Amino acid sequence: MALVNIHFLNLQNNYLFADIAKKVNAFKVMHPKADVISLGIGDVTQPLAPSVVEAMHKATDEMATKEGFHGYGPEQGYDFLREAILKNDFLPRGIHLDIDEIFINDGAKSDTGNFQELLHWDNFIGVTDPIYPVYIDSNVMIGRCGTFRDGRWTNVRYMPCTAENGFIPPLPTGRPVDVIYLCYPNNPTGTVITKPELRKWVNYALKNDALILYDAAYQAYIRDKDIPHSIYEIRGARKCAVEFHSFSKTAGFTGVRCGYTVVPKEVSVSTFEGERIPLNQLWLRRQCTKFNGTSYISQRAAEAIYTPEGKKQIKATIDYYMDNAHRMLTRLRALGYEVYGGENAPYIWMRTPDTIQKDIAAMAPTSSWKFFETLLYGANVVCTPGVGFGPSGEGYVRFTAFNSHEKTEEALDRIEAWSKG
Ligand code: PLP
Repeated sequence: MALVNIHFLNLQNNYLFADIAKKVNAFKVMHPKADVISLGIGDVTQPLAPSVVEAMHKATDEMATKEGFHGYGPEQGYDFLREAILKNDFLPRGIHLDIDEIFINDGAKSDTGNFQELLHWDNFIGVTDPIYPVYIDSNVMIGRCGTFRDGRWTNVRYMPCTAENGFIPPLPTGRPVDVIYLCYPNNPTGTVITKPELRKWVNYALKNDALILYDAAYQAYIRDKDIPHSIYEIRGARKCAVEFHSFSKTAGFTGVRCGYTVVPKEVSVSTFEGERIPLNQLWLRRQCTKFNGTSYISQRAAEAIYTPEGKKQIKATIDYYMDNAHRMLTRLRALGYEVYGGENAPYIWMRTPDTIQKDIAAMAPTSSWKFFETLLYGANVVCTPGVGFGPSGEGYVRFTAFNSHEKTEEALDRIEAWSKG
């Protein structure tokens, strides 16, 4: 008899964006003429950079020839891309990594979800709250999170990030956390962490023999010079941290699929007997078994973003999105809303006032799903309810900067008219 992995049955029914899509579809069925603008889902909208497109064409042409055809590639990725990454993403920041410490992937979602497979099932995980849902759900699938009660998993340490603590997660007290998920710039709050704050986490991990899984998917959006782009800017992080990168938001690769994971050779975890096991070797073993590499065409495309032209072009697109973020911050603030993030990240995190009253400053807080629905029905604008990212997201919604200027402005006009209405 084939038995199911019962841990999958513990997963909460619907993925957040599926829930949102259902509600938006229901609205559209009832209001077929309404023109809904989505500032909800975190997908990019602008086309690929010309350098990337050219590299893809060239790689495709190569594949059409006997000499230039590429079949299975190296599981860890082609050297041409790994070298470009070392040279451009790390060396200028004084970070020296070996080429073997870079693993090209098909996007950060797979690796942020899969990396926990290397760890014993009863490690105690800690997450900043709210958080990108993949971290918790992938741990639920392996039975590491306990049971779901009152919106929380019993075996997960939630580290609340709210306006009250400046969105800086407090270090865990009591039972030490074995595995810590950090994501900066943060999805969903759009906030960042300073070097001194990040240093506290690295020191915590070194002291408690914990592992940090650091998601840097949005590092390309950082504008403030003092904000770290990589956890390896912090001394000691090579011993305790694995870092995930993605070209999705850096270069519009959500549909192309390519990213990379850094697993330093010094980072290791323990057996019950106290033997140290380097994660680099273990991850390589895992990838060689379960992953057959990212396509040659995608890797050539990714390489192109590191050329002088490519760099200029992707920066222009990031600036375009950040211009949206700036417009959103400015206009929402002018309306009296309490908004965060948006300065070093493409996300705006907004406190949800009760929309029944007129004076925003005097409004009582409302639930994030209620605000989502009121905004959808009142302004035909889609946001993402904060509670979908964790219990501390209740009372907030997320807006993304990934739409066009025109749609973003129109959505803001509608929010303004609705808020004042
Ligand atoms: N990490 C974070 C924090 C994200 O928000 C996302 C996508 O939205 C990802 C990882 C996944 O990115 P990718 O497209 O590289 O799989």
